Amino acid sequence: MIKPVQKELYAVVGNPVNHSLSPLMMQTAFERMNHQAVYTALQLDEPREDFSLLHRVGFKGLSVTLPHKEQALQLAEEVDETARIIGAVNTLKRGDAGWIGCNTDWKGSNAALISVSPLKGKRGLVLGAGGAARAVVYGLQQEGAEVTICNRGEERGASLARTFQCAFIPLKDLGESLESLTFDLVVQCTPVGLAGDSGEAFVPPRLFHEGMMVLDTVYRPLRTPFVKEAMKKGCTVVSGLEMLLQQGVEQLKFWLEIPTVHEEVIGAMREALQKAVT
Ligand code: NAP
Repeated sequence: MIKPVQKELYAVVGNPVNHSLSPLMMQTAFERMNHQAVYTALQLDEPREDFSLLHRVGFKGLSVTLPHKEQALQLAEEVDETARIIGAVNTLKRGDAGWIGCNTDWKGSNAALISVSPLKGKRGLVLGAGGAARAVVYGLQQEGAEVTICNRGEERGASLARTFQCAFIPLKDLGESLESLTFDLVVQCTPVGLAGDSGEAFVPPRLFHEGMMVLDTVYRPLRTPFVKEAMKKGCTVVSGLEMLLQQGVEQLKFWLEIPTVHEEVIGAMREALQKAVT
């Protein structure tokens, strides 16, 4: 039996994870909280065996990222109802017999958006139909927003829209739909715009209008072509980095079983992230 002593062990697990900002953000938090813990990044190739191994080695908590969020849902001993509805687990906490899973992505996107304006009654457009989109759609609906999904792949998009009982627009028809539709907020949940990807001409520029709330889940670079276009049109831009931060705050609460994280700790986490991406 192996047991960590002196410090608790935490990690972000995914593949690839070498560029993850989670170790920086979480280590900053643990240090500010004076909590004796080590948080690292681990690349997992064989999730079935690796999740079990990490449990046996004594890890206390894991942040799960692409492409293992669905597998984490399958492999956890216990999963909360929300993560089941979303279909993905991004957080695992050590239980006696195995991992206990939940999803904090939806809380992250909600907290980031609500810091700007309440969501109730807002007409929201979600671009994408993968794991991030599912979490965002769930979060928006929890706050009483009216959601429309727009995705490149029609089958996947329509299926997500059926699950959450909302409208669906194929990406190729978005321009035409904007002749009769307008949205109060847009959340971009595809990898388009990630460093190295031009992301140009992804959505029609007339999607954006003054006063609209825009969240791009991609935060590297901070100003994606999508964000630049939104800023040009006078939208209120919410950073994907804030979503990352807020979902991380929720992970800390879940792992450490604490009701809140001190504002001073959150501020230090935000500062570390901002320094890393600018
Ligand atoms: P995913 O499950 O692989 O889904 C990707 C989605 O993007 C799919 O709907 C896919 O459409 C669409 N897509 C991919 N390339 C596209 C393109 N060139 N044009 C149009 N649509 C395209 O990925 P995910 O887990 O949802 O993650 C998506 C993004 O969210 C990632 O970049 C991730 O970094 C980000 N994210 C950020 C946070 C945060 O805290 N800020 C948290 C979670 C995720 P098809 O169905 O047509 O393939």
